[in-house]
Parts: sequence; C-alpha cells; structure tokens
Amino acid sequence: MITKYDLIKRFTSYVTIDTESDPTSDTTPSTAKQWVLANALVKELIEIGMSEVTIDTNGYVMATLPGNVDALVPTIGFISHYDTSPDFTGANVKPQVVEDYDGGDIVLNKDENIILSPKDFDDLLMYKGQTLITTDGTTLLGADDKAGIAEIISAMEYLLKHPEIKHGQIRVGFTPDEEIGRGAHKFDVKKFDADWAYTMDGSQVGELEYENFNAAGAVVTIQGKIVHPGYAKGKMVNSMYIAMDYINSLPRLETPEHTEGREGFFHLHNMKGEVDCTRLQYIIRDHNKVHFEARKEMMQKLADELNVQYGSDRVSVEIKDQYFNMREKIEPVMHIVDIAEQAMKKAGIKPLIKPIRGGTDGSQLSYMGLPCPNIFAGGHNFHGRFEYVPVESMQKAIEVIVNIAQLVAEK
Ligand SMILES: [Zn+2]
Repeated sequence: MITKYDLIKRFTSYVTIDTESDPTSDTTPSTAKQWVLANALVKELIEIGMSEVTIDTNGYVMATLPGNVDALVPTIGFISHYDTSPDFTGANVKPQVVEDYDGGDIVLNKDENIILSPKDFDDLLMYKGQTLITTDGTTLLGADDKAGIAEIISAMEYLLKHPEIKHGQIRVGFTPDEEIGRGAHKFDVKKFDADWAYTMDGSQVGELEYENFNAAGAVVTIQGKIVHPGYAKGKMVNSMYIAMDYINSLPRLETPEHTEGREGFFHLHNMKGEVDCTRLQYIIRDHNKVHFEARKEMMQKLADELNVQYGSDRVSVEIKDQYFNMREKIEPVMHIVDIAEQAMKKAGIKPLIKPIRGGTDGSQLSYMGLPCPNIFAGGHNFHGRFEYVPVESMQKAIEVIVNIAQLVAEK
C-alpha cells in the first residue's frame, strides 16, 4: 500500500491549493480558483495510468480504471469533491504533521495561542500513536474532501500496480461546489455510467451512511400595516407581533438544539422585521418522509389559522424541497451497503452505520439514478481551524476502496 510519506505528500499537494466555493456565485465551478486543482487532478490521473480521463466545461473530472476480469461485473464508482467550505478560509493552508501523537494538546499556532486539545475534542484520543495532519490554526484543512480524493487516487494507483487483484470497471468522479449544495447538480450520471457509486466524504474511520434528512426551506412573509404611532389605534398592524405568534406556535422542542438521531426539526435561521413586513427563514428536516410532509403542512396550516385570526391574508408561506432521504433509493439495492460493510470488516474496521443529520452529494445522485452511499474519508472537525485527519484513517479508506473493488468482482 502507499507509504505514509507519499500519502502525506499527495494530500498536502491538494490542500495547499485554495478551492473555497462561493454560494453567491452562479458559475460552475463557483470560483475560478477551483480549476487549478481540477486541472492538476486531470494531469495526475493521466500520470498514474487511468483511462478516459475527462474534464467537462463545469469542472467535473472523470476517469476509468478498466476491469481486468472476463466475467460481466458491475461498474462501480468513487466520488469526492475538491472544493472547501466557505465557512472558513481555505487560503494559504499550511498543514502540520504530528507524528506518534501522544494524546496531549497540540499547539496549532504559538503566536495566537491556538490549541487543538482532547479536552475539547475527545475524538483525538482514538488516534494516540498515530500520525495526524492538522492546520496551523489560521485556516481550515480541507480534509473535507481532499482526503477522499487522495484516497481514491491512491487506491486506483495501487490497483494499477497490482493487476493480480481482480476487479471490474471502476469510474472515479471529482466534483466542484459540494459545500454550497451544488456538487451533484451538473454531475453527468449518464456519462459516468456506473451501476452504483460511493462518495468518500464521511468523517471518522468506519462511518458508512445511507440515510440522510429529507430537507426543505421555507420563507414566511408577514405583511403588516404601518401607520403613525400617534394615530394608530385600530389601524396599525405590527407584523413583528404576528411573526412572534407564528414562531411560538411551532413546537419549541423540535429544533436542532433539542433533537438528535432520527428526530426531525424546524429551524428558524433568519428573521428580519419592521412594522410593515417581517420575513422568517426556516429549514425543515426529517428522516421520515411522512413526518416531513406533515411538518410542511403544519407550517402552512399555522399561516392559515393566523390569517383567519387577523381577518386577511397577512401571512404567506413559500416552501421549497431541497433534497430527500436516499434510504428510499438504497433499500432496493442494499447489497451495495453490504459490500461496503464487508470491505470494512476485511480491513479490520468496525462499520459505524448511522443516519446523517444533513445531506450529501450522494443523496442527490441517488435520486438522479446513481445509488450512492457515503463512506468515511477520515477527517474530523470539518469547516474550521481545528480540522485534522489521521493518516492511518486515510490508509484504511484506501484499503476499503480496494476491498470493495475486489468484492464486487467476486460476487
Ligand atoms: Zn465534504
């Protein structure tokens, strides 16, 4: 398998290229700088000997590892995204390597006294004795999801160097703009032409996910009536008070801070109000499709009730679906999850199967016809200065990819 040194070198070459995406842009990729890494990946895929290496006008990179068996074997894919989150800067990333981690505090930045400590992040203690890659405390790391890219390319390189390992055709895909929810949007599923795929975009070693939220966004607009306060009696309608009624009518404990596991919620994430008009922005999340629909109905019903109470159409609700739980698309093809589970066990990893409290590119791809569970890439504390990845977890991910390739050919 790839040496630690080479893996660190490969990973570092990716994270030192700034690929932050931008939700306010409407181009694809959303930022021009993402092309730099996309083009470098094309070059590298050609160098390691991959076939059919392509990049389209939206920056989607694809490549093929031809099968080396005669039998008819399904084509599978591995997918990662090369952009990093706009939540925290990804410019001038200076990765630091901590060898033989002793389980204590890691000083990320002496000058600014930024410390990565197991007191704050007890996950660190799982990796005692391992090699960690951290930030210098001033940027994110970008293990989300450049660890996934390093793993996929390393696994392909390994398979190319070891033709004695039998596998079917494998496709790889690298996408822009996942972090702004657009990674799958322009993914050409037909061109990718795989029977199923895995995103390598999870966190802790062992993670395997095929359930995510059903998601919608809602905008509640409340129209008031502004009148001079001195002459307002019987005339003024203060939209902010109606907004408070609306907010308080939703179940107060069904919010992100009171829920976990498969519990859904309403999340008020923005409000802007004046007497004349108030706007509330919500997201609605639920793993259960029936409950999800009921939540959307509840938001509409509350508006209807307030309109009756105030005697006119003051409250309007606009709800837009965002993505759906991929479980519905994965359950009919559960063997693709079983194979991933087996591949992990074969690598000595205990699979951690749990519902994602969010979405992934895989959920969109699953609804676009490419069933796509999510596998760990190894990193922790995504989207911030405390992000880190154990090199050993990345090596395990490479092993899992190789094992999946092998298992699919054995079926
Ligand atoms: Zn990611």
